[in-house]
Amino acid sequence: MRGAMAAAAVGDDVYGEDPTVNRLEAMTAELLGKEAAVLVSSGTMGNLVSVLSHCGRGDEMIVGDQAHIFLSEQGGAAALGGVHPRSVPTAPDGTLDLATVEESIRADDEHYPRTRLLTLENTHNGSGGRSLSVAYMDAASALAHRHDLKLHVDGARLWNAAVALNVAPARLLQEVDSASLCLSKGLGAPVGSVIVGDPEFIRRARRMRKILGGGMRQAGIIAAAGIVAITEMIERLADDHANAHTLAQGISQLDGISIDPAVVETDIVIFELRRDDLTPAQLSAGLKELGVLLNPIDSTHLRAVTNLHVTAADIERVIDAFARVLGSRGDSDSDGVRV
Ligand SMILES: *Cc1c(COP(=O)(O)O)cnc(C)c1O
Repeated sequence: MRGAMAAAAVGDDVYGEDPTVNRLEAMTAELLGKEAAVLVSSGTMGNLVSVLSHCGRGDEMIVGDQAHIFLSEQGGAAALGGVHPRSVPTAPDGTLDLATVEESIRADDEHYPRTRLLTLENTHNGSGGRSLSVAYMDAASALAHRHDLKLHVDGARLWNAAVALNVAPARLLQEVDSASLCLSKGLGAPVGSVIVGDPEFIRRARRMRKILGGGMRQAGIIAAAGIVAITEMIERLADDHANAHTLAQGISQLDGISIDPAVVETDIVIFELRRDDLTPAQLSAGLKELGVLLNPIDSTHLRAVTNLHVTAADIERVIDAFARVLGSRGDSDSDGVRV
């Protein structure tokens, strides 16, 4: 990837003259079955540009209450675009109940904002990387279009869904209007996301990228890494998924860890810590001392994510590290309460 970046042919992408950016955009559009694409710096920027290209000030978007767009992007669409988020409950599998979505669509009434957009997330990060099926994506698209809404997919991790479901990524997006996909994270590029959609939408997205300061000049050095990402790094996500499943199975055997390995479909392992003598922050700190990095996400849960730098052999070391931290706590506190 570094070699491809160093050797990339470049030009000024603000003038549309960077051949490597143009090639990445064309390749990604084709891979995802859409007519056009635009490179942006991050998943957050991809979602923001997309929402602002679909909605104007005072318009409403329907979004899951556990969605990355709703929870983890500073409310950018509201802060910068005046787009009103209407959150609906997220099911444990990352889906939104479509009857609830339908009820949330506003009637034409001067009290209400106008509902313009439905957003979905696939895979769904906060629910532990769950994949939304082709049937669900198609049903959600049909619902949105029946009500004259657009459907945007936060597909930061769509590649993982495609690999886990063994379907083409284009099939998952067949009926949707736009999607934003990360080249970083699982695919290993240092920077970059790609937005896909129809040419008219992508034209608006290019303008929106520019007003947000996202127009880049010789961005071919970034795009070159992205081309390696989409051509060489997608299939190997299956290794990350297998490693995540092995990790989930291994730690599910340990005292005080609660997780059903069957729900680990992709690269994210969210598990519950049920110990009176250890908080998620303490478990995370203890594992860090043993060279294992993962984050507490609330007062009872932690989240681990596998990636291309973690091998199957590493996973065995990680499970050992868990056993050591969980075991030593119990020993040093032998008169304490064990759950
Ligand atoms: C990581 C992630 C993002 C944001 O991507 P960045 O490149 O970190 O801005 C958006 N949505 C989902 C589902 C993610 O997992």
